[in-house]
Amino acid sequence: MPPMTAEMRPDLQPTATVNQEHTAQLSRATIMIVDDESTTMEIVKAYLEETGYRNFVLIEDSDQAMAQLEQRRPDLMLLDLIMPRVSGFDLLAQIRNTPKLEHLPVIILTSSSDNQDKLKALELGATDFLAKPVDPSELRLRVRNTLAAKAYLDRLSYYDPLTQLPNRHLLMEQLNAGLAVAKRTGEKLAVLSIELDQFDKLRDTMGLMAGDEILRQITQRLTHLIQGFDMMGQLETDHSLQGTLFHFDAGIFTLLLQHIANERDVAQVSEGLLETVRHVLCVDDSELYLTASIGIASYPTEDCDSHGMLQLASSAKDHVRNKGGDSYQFSSRRIHILHKKRLMIEARLRRALERKELRVYYQPKLGVRSNRIEGVEALIRWQANADTLVPPDVFIPIAEETGLIVPIGQWVLQQACQQMQAWQQAGKAAIKMAVNLSPVQFQSESMPAVFQKIVQQRGISPRSITFEVTESLLLNDIDAKIKVMHRLREMGFRIAIDDFGTGYSSLSYLKQLPLDELKIDRSFFSDLFSDTKSRALISAMIYLARSLNLTTVAEGVELEEQLDYLRNGACDQYQGYLFSPPLPPDRLLDLLEPAD
Ligand code: C2E
Ligand code: MG
Ligand code: MG
Repeated sequence: MPPMTAEMRPDLQPTATVNQEHTAQLSRATIMIVDDESTTMEIVKAYLEETGYRNFVLIEDSDQAMAQLEQRRPDLMLLDLIMPRVSGFDLLAQIRNTPKLEHLPVIILTSSSDNQDKLKALELGATDFLAKPVDPSELRLRVRNTLAAKAYLDRLSYYDPLTQLPNRHLLMEQLNAGLAVAKRTGEKLAVLSIELDQFDKLRDTMGLMAGDEILRQITQRLTHLIQGFDMMGQLETDHSLQGTLFHFDAGIFTLLLQHIANERDVAQVSEGLLETVRHVLCVDDSELYLTASIGIASYPTEDCDSHGMLQLASSAKDHVRNKGGDSYQFSSRRIHILHKKRLMIEARLRRALERKELRVYYQPKLGVRSNRIEGVEALIRWQANADTLVPPDVFIPIAEETGLIVPIGQWVLQQACQQMQAWQQAGKAAIKMAVNLSPVQFQSESMPAVFQKIVQQRGISPRSITFEVTESLLLNDIDAKIKVMHRLREMGFRIAIDDFGTGYSSLSYLKQLPLDELKIDRSFFSDLFSDTKSRALISAMIYLARSLNLTTVAEGVELEEQLDYLRNGACDQYQGYLFSPPLPPDRLLDLLEPAD
């Protein structure tokens, strides 16, 4: 049943007094009358027309009623009880057994004064009664009140109470109807899934009330923009673009665009939406800067049903969000498949820690001159099943986005400390341990204290632990992160900058950071002999590191020639397949030297 509220929205309130304007809104409703006496129907219709009702469906043959109900979807039915073939009772029973119609208000028109009939009709779900011959005043009042009650219920079930926007039920109905029209007429439409990138975080930190206020303000802005589509002169369309905004998931809006000329229009609308969201927002005396991720599924590019369209738009939106947000993306099967794979990995990764599926491998770091193992780097792997060892590049980004990297990172440090202890107990010489840290771990203020506790519990000196961080750490919140680095350093931990030379940050930060070690990215060594520039850059990096008093480590050394090259320079350590790939702890044990 299409809720009549679509047109009547603004004034549907559950008030006792129903004003004239309200009645005028209600009178747009479609009223179906089923009666075998056509004169009764004509009289009822004439009375109601006097009040302003315009849309009627009159059915004399009750056989036809169910089919017409499906097709015309009235807002109210006036039903005679005594009819040949299908009686009013039978029809009422059928209506209440049809899920789409079970809430249709039905007023029984009856000349019968038999109380039994009334009781039976009520039991079957009749909404109200009207005695025949119909009194015009009573008819108008009963129809008006019944429609008002329906409108109120529709509002509750079809609108989001917070934003007052239509909800999922209405979206599905309008999208289904829109797709049906588009398939028939060749018209184009698009579904946009719009998520506020920072919403969850803001709601967590600022509270639920502030979260609601953010949604209300954003709703206002988006609605304003959508109402002005007709005036967006630059759109290439000569149709009048029509947009309907829906909200049902906190922080996620859906926009249905109809009568679009081409996908360029949709792209332009998306840019407008992104721009609108970017404007500063004032909530609780705070100035907030939000961005959004938008995923778009358009018909006929995507030829699927409404659920399929929504899924495609949503996975395209997630794709944008995972890449940093503040952008839009049209859907594609490839993105959808990637997204589904990601969701699967995410779900399994959540269980991986509990199920003990994570492993730590260790790769030796050797002195360039001594060629002896001076330390190892802990590198995580995921034993997803008996024969699949998932490399970190696949799951660390997902662990970062979901926050799982925090418990995983702690677990890696615990394993590494436990392993150092075990090697020492097996009579091996003490070595240094390197552990990689993700920028996400730096967001937690308690991180240094937690790490300190972990090493203390295993009796390991913080001096023998080096935390490796990449330049991506410095992309945002630099000051806060440098503070955490200082805190770690004060506790005695060492800090290395990993994959150096691949980031885009300026060199000046090097002197601000509390660093002990610089690891030159392996890409410089891979084309060492084919590219003179790489050699120049390596020399410059080693020089730089030396002058800042940092230990230099060469990553990804695979060939003897590369090591020879390093021996002639001033690099301190190397790491790479030439000596050993990362190994499980028992295999690394054989490589370690005994304690003196
Ligand atoms: P990374 O810290 O730069 O680690 C070095 C990567 O280079 C490792 O890849 C290692 O297996 C690989 N490698 C070492 N020697 C050679 C070589 O000679 N040739 C080539 N081609 N590759 C070599 P892996 O283990 O796949 O790790 C990839 C990245 O994942 C790491 O890069 C690190 O950024 C991240 N990662 C690994 N474990 C952890 C962890 O516990 N926590 C966090 N946050 N990140 C981790
Ligand atoms: Mg590393
Ligand atoms: Mg590295």
